[in-house]
Amino acid sequence: MKFPIYLDYQATTPVDPRVLEAMLPFFSEQFGNPASRTHVFGWRAAEAVDVARAQVAALLGARSPEEIAFTSGATESDNLALKGVARACRDKGGHVVTVATEHRAVLDGCKRLEEDGLRVTYLPVDKHGMVSPDAVRAAITGGTVLVSVMAANNEVGTLAPLAEIGRITRERGVLLHTDAAQAVGKIQIDVEALGVDLLSLSAHKLCGPKGVGALYVRRGVRLSPQMDGGGHEFGLRSGTLNVPGVVGLGKACDICRLEMAEETARVRTWRDRLHAEIAGALDNVSLNGHPAERLAGNLNLSFAGATADAVMATMKEVAVSSASACTTAAVEPSHVLRAMGVKRLLSHCSIRFGLGRFTTKEEVDYAARRVIEVVRAVRAMPPMEQLAIVAARDRC
Ligand SMILES: *Cc1c(COP(=O)(O)O)cnc(C)c1O
Repeated sequence: MKFPIYLDYQATTPVDPRVLEAMLPFFSEQFGNPASRTHVFGWRAAEAVDVARAQVAALLGARSPEEIAFTSGATESDNLALKGVARACRDKGGHVVTVATEHRAVLDGCKRLEEDGLRVTYLPVDKHGMVSPDAVRAAITGGTVLVSVMAANNEVGTLAPLAEIGRITRERGVLLHTDAAQAVGKIQIDVEALGVDLLSLSAHKLCGPKGVGALYVRRGVRLSPQMDGGGHEFGLRSGTLNVPGVVGLGKACDICRLEMAEETARVRTWRDRLHAEIAGALDNVSLNGHPAERLAGNLNLSFAGATADAVMATMKEVAVSSASACTTAAVEPSHVLRAMGVKRLLSHCSIRFGLGRFTTKEEVDYAARRVIEVVRAVRAMPPMEQLAIVAARDRC
């Protein structure tokens, strides 16, 4: 077993060696600009981009590769979807519906829309982090132009009832955007069956490289570009493409399409094993997220009486995370856990374990043993001592 052990797949993932191999030529011999129409260097790069576009489209069930626009990642895709629709549909109304537990890219994007005079409704979730389709239906008004609901939550893994929401938005003639950065390559996504009009994804969440992603834009959906200059990507996103990144994203999607079913089953087995071992040995462990409708690689647990920061500072050889990582009481707890009704104190005792393609049984068993050991030790400490461990880590 190699240390440290990486269990933070919702933050980012390692690049699959097959993805890296596909990318490498585009850093060296195949350096052409896909927008160069006059010579073979450009043609070859453009061909590689076409292949990648088709690979992304195939994973999403898109009707045409031309519905895929490459971006720098899901943050940019979210911004392009929200602001692009808001500007293009200004005459139709100024209302957007989203959910309180969305990623910052969507929530901060919505804040900006509010500054620009649009109205945004932030729907609540239940204790499992699930939004109700009826709440979506009730929030839609005559002026609603867009509903944005994330497919899978990055903190607690809860999967949204997208198909039902898609039926509602189609019925009402409102566009549906989904931030699917955590869902693509992990669960079956079919934009046609789901009735999704816009979908954001990011390569580095599916064993591809960082700094590249895509926005699926259903044919016929009008979107105002956020970046001007050159008219690349069907006029939606100007700028020379990151060709190695785009090739890597395509390859990563192709691997997911072929291996997702087998990989998800394996990851779920290790995730359930980790959960069972920890919950079997420790009292007062609570699961955050939906018990069943949840990403296979996500396990978010609260350990009452053991602050997440103290546990993580002690267990340095296992890389996990906590959305409320903080060293001072002033830092806000995770907005996701708060929206789910998790008590403030308990939210500071919550740790996210993210498992993925390269996670092994040995790593899971080691992590479970260490978590049990460390949580027991931290729980035995007075609160001031828990703070001191964190302060000591932050000094070095
Ligand atoms: C990671 C993530 C993002 C941001 O993606 P980047 O490509 O890093 O900009 C947005 N939304 C969700 C749900 C994510 O998990």
